[in-house]
Amino acid sequence: MQLIDGKQIAHDVHTETRAAVEALKARGITPGLAVVLVGADPASRAYVRSKDKMSKELGLHSVKHELPAETTQEALIALVKQLNADPAVHGILVQSPPPPHIDEAAVIQTIDPRKDVDGFHPLNVAKLALDDPTGFVPCTPLGCQRLLLASGIDPAGKHVVVLGRSMIVGKPLALLLMAKGKGGDATVTVVHSRSKNLPELTRQADILIAAIGRPGFVKAEHVREGAVVIDVGINRVEDPSKEKGYSIVGDVAFDEVAPKCSLITPVPGGVGPMTIAMLMANTVKACQQITGA
Ligand code: NAP
Repeated sequence: MQLIDGKQIAHDVHTETRAAVEALKARGITPGLAVVLVGADPASRAYVRSKDKMSKELGLHSVKHELPAETTQEALIALVKQLNADPAVHGILVQSPPPPHIDEAAVIQTIDPRKDVDGFHPLNVAKLALDDPTGFVPCTPLGCQRLLLASGIDPAGKHVVVLGRSMIVGKPLALLLMAKGKGGDATVTVVHSRSKNLPELTRQADILIAAIGRPGFVKAEHVREGAVVIDVGINRVEDPSKEKGYSIVGDVAFDEVAPKCSLITPVPGGVGPMTIAMLMANTVKACQQITGA
């Protein structure tokens, strides 16, 4: 069994991004990313701050808007429209989930699809389904694909089983890996909470990707000998031995699954660092496409 080192692969992506940012700057263009947070959810605040920090480290122009939880839908939409019109901003991300009074779908649809670096706008979802490379693919699925390719795993012809069908991870990941061409061409099965005989289905996977948000759900019985396992899950579980009182664990019961795998991602340090790396890469792509550089 070999561990897939997400931190190292994310570092390599950042190196490419930094070089692309420098090339743009040499032409007088600075890629800009705007991140908007509504409310004070501690996990969301931590994500937004790390995105802002990474943008700055890579030489991007970073704009951070931290708005109070009582911000109205109208005010949020007005801010998104202002960012759409701002020529210094090439990527816009509104941190999910917003407070319950905000209609998230309406906010996403307001983002200029050319600046939708999260890839959630319906136009970008359609472009992914249409194999149109000018679209934006959500960062976590893109990161999973990159982890596979960087580890020498070509999905072409492999049976990939994706556990979970969310619009953030499972569904776009299935589309990405079944797309024609490099990094795709896989035979994809998607399973979810209504699937029957789950272990029987997941045991067929050459590559098993778990994205369900259930700590340690994937057990040895779900995995065939020699499979590649990608664990997208980020779950907080109580852990009195830790200073914070919790630990972060994945959707895979690592200790019993790892010995059966050829390759597996750890949590943390697997998919997690890739998500932010692909966000930065998407922002550079948006800048290149908008400016024609
Ligand atoms: P989500 O929107 O809650 O979707 C979960 C999916 O898993 C749903 O399709 C659900 O099925 C399925 N599911 C839930 N329980 C199941 C069960 N017992 N058996 C079979 N399927 C089950 O979650 P998400 O946003 O995709 O996130 C999934 C996990 O990935 C979470 O732990 C999240 O924190 C993590 N995540 C990590 C990153 C990262 O950067 N690494 C990014 C995003 C998410 P139904 O559709 O039938 O309900």
